[in-house]
Amino acid sequence: MSHIARKRFGQNFLQDHRIIDSMISSIEAQPNEHWVEIGPGQGALTEPLLKSGVKLEVVELDRDLVTLLQEKFKQYDNLRIHSADALRFDFSALAVNGKLRVIGNLPYNISTPLMFHILANSACIEDMFFMLQKEVVDRICAEPNSKKYGRLSVMMQYYCATEWLFDVPPESFDPVPKVMSAIVRLVPHTVPPVQVDSLANLNTVVTTAFSQRRKTLRNSLKKLIDEQTMLDLGINPVLRAENISLSDFAKLSNTIVSVTQDTVFFDEADDL
Ligand code: SAH
Repeated sequence: MSHIARKRFGQNFLQDHRIIDSMISSIEAQPNEHWVEIGPGQGALTEPLLKSGVKLEVVELDRDLVTLLQEKFKQYDNLRIHSADALRFDFSALAVNGKLRVIGNLPYNISTPLMFHILANSACIEDMFFMLQKEVVDRICAEPNSKKYGRLSVMMQYYCATEWLFDVPPESFDPVPKVMSAIVRLVPHTVPPVQVDSLANLNTVVTTAFSQRRKTLRNSLKKLIDEQTMLDLGINPVLRAENISLSDFAKLSNTIVSVTQDTVFFDEADDL
């Protein structure tokens, strides 16, 4: 195969067969399930998925790789290749016949906005398995009172149950990335775990509180929520953002009356 990895498309191809096998065995794909793979690349995960008999849709941005995939997998009738940008792809349109399962070894520069783009359509999604930078997986899964707990943890845990599956060392890829990777499983909640009146307000409170994470809530949220309101909710105003749960953030955000219109939570330039 003569494809030269393109840095701008975040291409790091999986080449360690033990990792590929572990990933495939942990997803427990069943024949005839409907799967979407994002960024199939040269097909490291695509091939075993096709062999497992699932109905597979893949979304690949690099047209050279689309051509390569068409050629490589032309004997399979359970594959549909979409030559498209996953960030702009309408995943809900694929789910006309029920639930979707999602897998991807994502380009790390777009992984967070992409996950939130998919979660906006999460009603049709059963679960998602992503290979991400380990640091990002740690933040997604972090619990209160830890250093990694932050905006990404709270917003992601509002949408899904999160589970770290295993770490993947840099040598498992070609070219070798600089960072450690890990696999996370995300299972969108069918019923939200907490009552949130406005997701935009939740995002505003969480972003504001963590943007000065060393400050107490009384100080960091001063412009949004007064101290007495925090006390009334049973939330100690001298705690910091990293000490309070998703449920507390939800209660705080529900006290804000004016609704922020902006609902784009994470974009490509976002600082987490
Ligand atoms: N899954 C393969 C490839 C991983 S590299 C493997 O494990 O070996 C990441 C892949 O995502 C590349 O194929 C890259 O071209 C593709 N990609 C990058 N940005 C994308 C986007 N916005 N939408 C869809 N695919 C994208």
